[in-house]
Amino acid sequence: MSENGKYDLVIVGGGPGGLSAGIYAMRAALKTVLVEKGLAGGQVAMSDEVENYPGFIQVSGAELSMKFVEHAKACELEMVSDEVTAVEPGPEHHLVRLGSGKVYQTRSVILATGGRPRKLGIPGEDEYYGKGVSYCAVCDGFFFRNKTVIVVGGGDTAAEEALYLAKIAKKVYIAHRRDAFRASMILQKRIEADCNIEVLWNTVLTKINADASGVCGADLKDIRTGEARSLDLDGAFIFIGFDPEGGIVPAGIKKNADGYVVTDDKCETQIPGIFVIGDLREKYARQIVIAAADGCTAALAAAHFVEMKQGLPDVCEAPAGLFE
Ligand code: NAP
Repeated sequence: MSENGKYDLVIVGGGPGGLSAGIYAMRAALKTVLVEKGLAGGQVAMSDEVENYPGFIQVSGAELSMKFVEHAKACELEMVSDEVTAVEPGPEHHLVRLGSGKVYQTRSVILATGGRPRKLGIPGEDEYYGKGVSYCAVCDGFFFRNKTVIVVGGGDTAAEEALYLAKIAKKVYIAHRRDAFRASMILQKRIEADCNIEVLWNTVLTKINADASGVCGADLKDIRTGEARSLDLDGAFIFIGFDPEGGIVPAGIKKNADGYVVTDDKCETQIPGIFVIGDLREKYARQIVIAAADGCTAALAAAHFVEMKQGLPDVCEAPAGLFE
């Protein structure tokens, strides 16, 4: 247990929110560690182009996330590659348990664990994941050069990924369950103008079909008429939203009906010193710039929280001897 540590702040998650929090926390002189189970940079690293992060007219998601990481490193933020398995709140300190067995004792915690792609839950989706079913066009689009694919969804992600795939694939269908997109108007206009893309309105997938070489088609249904038909396809890209990754949110913290954590305007939960930011937090819009702004808000609030706690006796909830 020699690598257990005592911190002012533990940040869980290394996307734009977590890294921004880390930058602000280091500048506020908080003893901080950021724990990320995968690669630091977050979901944005999977995006093809980002065109709405201020200061960057157009930048690849990979480059933008690399810049966030570089910035955090320049601030000497300690980053640990590990999985947080539990956050145990205490009256003076919280404990953060890691998969490796380490335990961090900290005054404050910022949870920035984001979300994971939502699934359709139809036959064939799980079976053919990686064999033509994908949740990431930037990762898998390469395999569909000059092929025919379908994108499911009508939000910004589906629109952006369909436009990306349209540069690679021979034909891109977009199946959307309604007769209007919720994606931003600029993306809608680009879709309209792209002759490689055909939108199937009011259409849902009911089954993904495959042969020995992977996905070969899908069964579709027109939800107005009930008419069913099959389409020959080489791949199915599903972008129907995200579910928040809230598995380590301590019990007692309020979540809304969709599982997003409810915070105050400081991003603080009902448990003092535990903050939630980015896509895990209930909010009007989920954008990179908002995740970054959340990170700033929570880190400044955590710094204030820690300052208020300074001078209090070092009451420790940890098992005896753990932090000697
Ligand atoms: P989203 O905005 O929640 O859109 C999900 C889409 O999937 C909706 O069109 C929804 O249809 C459809 N859908 C949901 N469940 C479905 C189901 N079971 N079957 C068929 N269709 C289903 O999710 P998102 O596009 O991933 O975006 C998430 C957040 O990130 C949004 O706030 C978005 O603005 C943001 N984002 C921003 C950018 C950017 O600004 N560059 C890029 C990507 C994402 P309905 O429309 O009928 O509900």
